[in-house]
This record gives sequence, structure tokens and C-alpha cells, in this order.
Amino acid sequence: MAQPGHSEHQLGTAVDLTGASIGYLGAYTGFESTKEGIWLAAHAYQYGFTMSYPHETTEYIFEPWHYRYVGVSLATTLHTLDMSFDEYYATTTPMIWKVQ
Ligand SMILES: [Zn+2]
Repeated sequence: MAQPGHSEHQLGTAVDLTGASIGYLGAYTGFESTKEGIWLAAHAYQYGFTMSYPHETTEYIFEPWHYRYVGVSLATTLHTLDMSFDEYYATTTPMIWKVQ
């Protein structure tokens, strides 16, 4: 999890999601196996959202409930490449951020 002052939530670009099938329990790792979590993993990119922390890393825990808005174009690219925003950003140059 992010340190205080370093969360994507504070950028206003991220949301934490849950669903009726788990009684709207928040920050639940098992969310990935719920019908809502499965649907989000398959379709969130179509609405411009990407799962920010799809893998356990040294800095972040797996957070299947945390989605960040990056726009449909980039979200589609990330979905196709099966990469997180951070993984993609680390492999690209700032030139990709040029407004088209
Ligand atoms: Zn979150």
C-alpha cells in the first residue's frame, strides 16, 4: 500500500470497488474471484480503467479492487499487453505521453 501522501486516490484518478456478492466488503483480496471482480478484470479497460496493482511486488500488495482511470486508449493497450500502468511506464519513454 502507498505511504501517506503517495496514493493514486489523492490524485483523484483511482477508485476502490466491491460488489454485492461479498456484501460490499472493501479491500478484499478474494474480490478477484467474484463475479464483479471477474467482470472488471475483463471489461474495465473498455471504460478507461486499469487495475493498478495486479501483482504482488516489493512495494505494493495485490489489489484486485483498485482501479485507476487512464483513458480508453491506454487502458486498452495495458489490457492487451497484460501490464500495469507502472510496468508500462517503466518500459516506455515520455514521448508516449504526447497529446495526439
Ligand atoms: Zn485503492
